[in-house]
Amino acid sequence: MSDNSFNIESLRAQFPILNQQVNGAPLVYLDSAATTQKPQCVIDAITDYYTGYNSNVHRGAHSLADKATIAFEAAREKVAKFLNSPKSEQVLWTRGTTEAINLVAHSWGNSHIPEGEVMLVSALENHASIVPWQILAEQKGAKVVPIPLTPNGDIDQNAFTELLTPNVKLLALSHVSNALGSVNPVAKMVAEAKAKGITTLVDGAQAVAHFTIDVQALGCDFYVFSGHKLFGPTGIGVLWGQEALLNAMPPYQGGGEMIDTVSFEGTTFNGLPFKFEAGTPHIEGVIGLGAAIDFVNSLDHKAVAQHEADLMAYLIDKAASVEGLTRIGHAEHQVGAFSFLLEGAHPSDVGMILDQQGIAVRTGHHCTQPLMSYLNITGTIRASLSIYNTRDDIDRLFAGLEKAKLFLL
Ligand code: PMP
Repeated sequence: MSDNSFNIESLRAQFPILNQQVNGAPLVYLDSAATTQKPQCVIDAITDYYTGYNSNVHRGAHSLADKATIAFEAAREKVAKFLNSPKSEQVLWTRGTTEAINLVAHSWGNSHIPEGEVMLVSALENHASIVPWQILAEQKGAKVVPIPLTPNGDIDQNAFTELLTPNVKLLALSHVSNALGSVNPVAKMVAEAKAKGITTLVDGAQAVAHFTIDVQALGCDFYVFSGHKLFGPTGIGVLWGQEALLNAMPPYQGGGEMIDTVSFEGTTFNGLPFKFEAGTPHIEGVIGLGAAIDFVNSLDHKAVAQHEADLMAYLIDKAASVEGLTRIGHAEHQVGAFSFLLEGAHPSDVGMILDQQGIAVRTGHHCTQPLMSYLNITGTIRASLSIYNTRDDIDRLFAGLEKAKLFLL
């Protein structure tokens, strides 16, 4: 944290994509929950790699390979510090949150979820943290059980406690809901589950860009996230795990890099983290993610959090006075996403009319169909905020909604 004077204009200037017209109007980007925009330093880090030292990592006999390997492994150290991981070997590269969860489901799940046992997930999980467990359940004759929600759209804590029976082997929870923006009480829930010997996975896809993560304080067994939601590139993500668990897990994919010795008599595997990183990795993705973490570390976290909280409060307050607007989800602590409906208008029509005015939102089920069924709706309009948004963006959204009403109602 270097700069205490949070200056939104100089921050926005670091994101070149924001400075453009879309459909004849200045872009208002309210879709950061789907993917965040990238600062120039991340774009530069990727360009520098390709223009200056493109090379495959590890085992190279030349200087470019050394340089690439140093940058690649330095990024792992940066992620380890970012998560407050005891060791950098506990940070494994994946393609994203989705692949990280699938890795755990395949590798850990195969040997830890016997027939008839239960995997608990909240009803507001993203499909990425439902479907891998369902596939595993199908293979094993196990069950995926949803934790119900309160009418506010929060995870029902009493129902959760009651569901913690001896046959529960896994709890998978999102740190922040991508559809509703609710911050879930993961530390408390993980502690309750751990006290009963249940393995826990926290999906941090929507949390990492909004607050400090401390896996040791959370006490979870696995923590997963995607680089592209943290100002980094697509195609790179992280699986963090407890060292003993990762050491005991079999490889997820076989190939080069993940082995120690190979022969037709038998193959032995590499140690952490390489045991889980078969083949040439996403080198530029890792280097870009390292640059994204440098960028995050350069921010005044307190000032940024205050800015984001101010924007969310402003958005919630303005929404309350719009006739026909129904807010979906009323979590006490909400970051990033704000979902709503406009009476008499289909979300996708609203999204289209906003786009015509240069305003980017997302509409639909947001990969949370069970949550939508729970709320008895098919989808929402979702405006999602990041550090580079302004009150002016929110004013433009509401002006855009008034235009949408004129067209649609
Ligand atoms: N979990 C949550 C909460 C998400 O918001 C997302 C992305 N929408 C995912 C998982 C999946 O992330 P990715 O597509 O980057 O793998």
